[in-house]
Amino acid sequence: MKILVINAGSSSLKYQLIDVDNGNVIAKGLCERIGIENSKLTYKPTGKEPYELVSNMKDHTEAIKLVLDALVDPERGVISSMSEIDAVGHRVVHGGERFAKSVLLTDEVIKEIEDLSELAPLHNPANIMGINACKAIMPDTPMVAVFDTAFHQTMPEHAFIYGLPYEAYTELKVRRYGFHGTSHAYVTGRALTYLDKPASDTKIITCHLGNGSSVSAVKGGKCIDTSMGFTPLEGLPMGTRCGDMDPAIVAYLMKKLDLDRAGIDTYMNKKSGMLGISGVSSDFRDLGEAAKQGNKRAQLALDTFAYKVKKYIGEYAAALNGVDAIVFTAGVGENDRAMRAAIMKDMEYLGVAFDEEYNMSCPRGSEQVISKPESRVKVIVIPTDEEMMIARDTANIVRSYN
Ligand code: AMP
Repeated sequence: MKILVINAGSSSLKYQLIDVDNGNVIAKGLCERIGIENSKLTYKPTGKEPYELVSNMKDHTEAIKLVLDALVDPERGVISSMSEIDAVGHRVVHGGERFAKSVLLTDEVIKEIEDLSELAPLHNPANIMGINACKAIMPDTPMVAVFDTAFHQTMPEHAFIYGLPYEAYTELKVRRYGFHGTSHAYVTGRALTYLDKPASDTKIITCHLGNGSSVSAVKGGKCIDTSMGFTPLEGLPMGTRCGDMDPAIVAYLMKKLDLDRAGIDTYMNKKSGMLGISGVSSDFRDLGEAAKQGNKRAQLALDTFAYKVKKYIGEYAAALNGVDAIVFTAGVGENDRAMRAAIMKDMEYLGVAFDEEYNMSCPRGSEQVISKPESRVKVIVIPTDEEMMIARDTANIVRSYN
């Protein structure tokens, strides 16, 4: 079964065509600068020459058209006609409390996703553009929505409620939702294969550390807590996001810096985190380089990040009453060996025997156990694959309707 996976942003659209029966990626790529001049399609067919095409795409529908043209191109394409695409899986950021699972996209579901835009104004409208574009061009192909928030819907109320008047939750939907759920779900599924016990008895802490970062506590394969909250701003300090802080700081800074609502939003989302602390960059590679050259603020940003991840691991070990596996994934988790070492330092109390040497030398790009064989807690690097997860969910749902 061939599934087209679409991840639509406001001016970009990532795609992958995946054969779920053998797990092969048939082609993948990206449309950038949609609606802006010099839009560009990048097309990477597996086993054939990749290419880039600069062509104005006035909207997401034109972008999807170009993607489909590339896929069915007689010379450089990978399928002979659009009818070979069995279904389309869309990444949707916010499913609110309404969607605890992936769902077949009907007009009613699309309307509900639109209604959830007030909780994710930067993301859901862009996701809807991708959905509508596919609907316009492939009206008879079934489509599925896979939500970033869905995996976290198993959190108990005491984990998702804020210490605000209860009506903030019941009337205004203010609660913790969590994000990166598709990634946490994927690496949880992989981590379970390393543990010699029934899935229902397992306790796993998944660390998705990238430009955006979150940590989740997963008991018996189900999420019981996660570090992101009402929005993806809560939790760890990230590339440019501040993460957890005293909420009173918001009013203080608005007054002191004369910021309006949009101003404080930009301050906390775009100017804070690793970039804000270091004054150097939001990119962990740049920070590592700068710290090596003696830049103290870059080192401080890295130390702050490692410390905060360590604290979340401790917090979630307490919430889970123990831990069988700690998983590292995403750009930093998969690649930044020094960061993993800093996080895992002094974790013997938890039953971790970390293999420092192997951590520094193990190959990138594949799953690696970086704890010693005698370690009670397995520490595992698992490259995330959200697209594969979306493709599988899509195939399962479409099959269940056939
Ligand atoms: P993501 O959001 O998952 O794509 O992750 C992006 C982050 O991963 C950026 O901050 C990169 O600096 C970081 N990253 C990617 N590769 C490496 C690497 N080899 N070493 C350190 N950080 C890396």
